Amino acid sequence: MKEKQNIHIIGIGGIGTSALARWFLANNYKVSGSDICESEITEDLKKIGVSIYVGHKTSNLNRKTILVIHSAAISGENPEIKIAKKLKIDIKSYSQTIGRIIKKYPKIFKKNKPAQEPFDLWGFESLDGWHDLIDITAAKIQQVLDKNNNKDCYFYTVQNKQKLSTMRWYFESDDINRKTFEEIINKAEKESGSICENCGTKENVSQNKRGYILTLCNACRKIT
Ligand SMILES: [Zn+2]
Repeated sequence: MKEKQNIHIIGIGGIGTSALARWFLANNYKVSGSDICESEITEDLKKIGVSIYVGHKTSNLNRKTILVIHSAAISGENPEIKIAKKLKIDIKSYSQTIGRIIKKYPKIFKKNKPAQEPFDLWGFESLDGWHDLIDITAAKIQQVLDKNNNKDCYFYTVQNKQKLSTMRWYFESDDINRKTFEEIINKAEKESGSICENCGTKENVSQNKRGYILTLCNACRKIT
């Protein structure tokens, strides 16, 4: 029998990250994770078969790991992130603040259960620095939806992620308003290239060409 692939979650004791752990477990993956301390959440995860490690160590990473997910609070100096990079394992960040924006614009960020789109599973696949930009852009989209308040007008997010240093926002919409939505989205995607993905500042922001290409300010580049 084929051995199950492993998903490793750094900062697994969070509300969002632990929910993600349960989802992977239900979808036939093995799940491991680490956090700085034990909690009721990590105890519950242990009971359903998740391997929990207290503290962040290189040895926490199982050889069958195909994906490492970390909460936004974790920096690139984390030993588990470092070893994952070295082993060329896919790394994704999971944001803690997505719930706030999703609640504010339920039509734009509707979540399907079971997951049908990447957004259902990952939420915003970028660091927290772009959340204001996402919020402002969603407000503009909402205005269009409000103005055309009928069932034929719709917009929902398929995926929202960072790719090659800027934001990419994939969506489905009605045909009549598609051009308007595209203009709003294109503007936001362009603007993301001048906003630090980590802290949201527009000062001293650049794109690094070495290794991972990210839009970051000088201060954040030192710590991420
Ligand atoms: Zn920054």
